[in-house]
Amino acid sequence: FKEELNNLKGEKSISKDGVKVEIAANIGTPKDIDKVLEHDGEGVGLYRSEFLYMDRDKLPTEEEQFEAYKVVAEKLDGKPLVIRTLDVGGDKDLPYLNLPEEMNPFLGYRAIRLCLDRTDIFKTQLRAILRSSAYGNVKIMFPMISNIDELRKAKDILEEVKSELRSENVKFNEDIEVGIMVEIPSTAIQSDIFAKEVDFFSIGTNDLIQYTLAVDRGNQDISYLYSQYHPAVLRLIKMTIENGHKEGIWVGMCGEAAGDEKLIPILLGMGLDEFSMSASSMLMARWIIKNISKTEMEEKVEKILTLGSPQEVEKYIDKEITSKI
Ligand code: PEP
Ligand code: MG
Repeated sequence: FKEELNNLKGEKSISKDGVKVEIAANIGTPKDIDKVLEHDGEGVGLYRSEFLYMDRDKLPTEEEQFEAYKVVAEKLDGKPLVIRTLDVGGDKDLPYLNLPEEMNPFLGYRAIRLCLDRTDIFKTQLRAILRSSAYGNVKIMFPMISNIDELRKAKDILEEVKSELRSENVKFNEDIEVGIMVEIPSTAIQSDIFAKEVDFFSIGTNDLIQYTLAVDRGNQDISYLYSQYHPAVLRLIKMTIENGHKEGIWVGMCGEAAGDEKLIPILLGMGLDEFSMSASSMLMARWIIKNISKTEMEEKVEKILTLGSPQEVEKYIDKEITSKI
């Protein structure tokens, strides 16, 4: 079977009824890109830039970041590269920032909240990302957006940085796409509004599950409650995809669920355009897509959304989908 998967290298990810999707990778450092190309990734759907800030004692300079983005953009040779701006806080600490001790770090001062406060850090990163956009198909993504004002502020700062670069005659892509992670329930619920102001969505199920179900994603004692099959989570995912499509933007997913063999057919049925996952899962995902039909999956989605519990959903998928592929 491994050989069968290897034979899929160079092929497109198209369902039996002709629907094409993009299968991309999540990466953390520039080194990861070689494995993505080896497994024939169609792009990078999530570059977790925070790793450039971790395991060191001071902030990375603009130049260091620029190099780290540029090398990946060039290696991708025109394939999309979604760079997520700094997502620290929560479980990822940067000791040299002296972030406050918090009662609820996952609900606290983190990601875009920190960046909108520390605009010095944010602008340096945006300059580096914009500069790298002259070397490939770079897109910008903001994490942990929970409120439309955060998006508008982040976009205003991006415009400021663009005009600085323009006045310095520095090259960048003027039409760079700007998107957000949909990983907080408020944003999924208001995705109709957000879709009018961004170029794409990427659904972050790791956090979306945790916040929708009020289950800490890292707490083993309650991990039995944490499930990507929860119908409430699936409803939010479907709503987000539909609202994105109504405004003509593409919708991807970069949480773990995007690479879940059982969920891929359901996500195709919901209309997901891009699946971003660990590099080692990509060929398997392509194999699944090539062996299912979107129209058939649309019917299964309807059925699933009438079910009550995650266990019922998983059982239904096992019986009606996975065992028949
Ligand atoms: C997510 O929340 O689903 C996600 C992809 O981001 P992270 O896992 O880095 O929080
Ligand atoms: Mg997240």
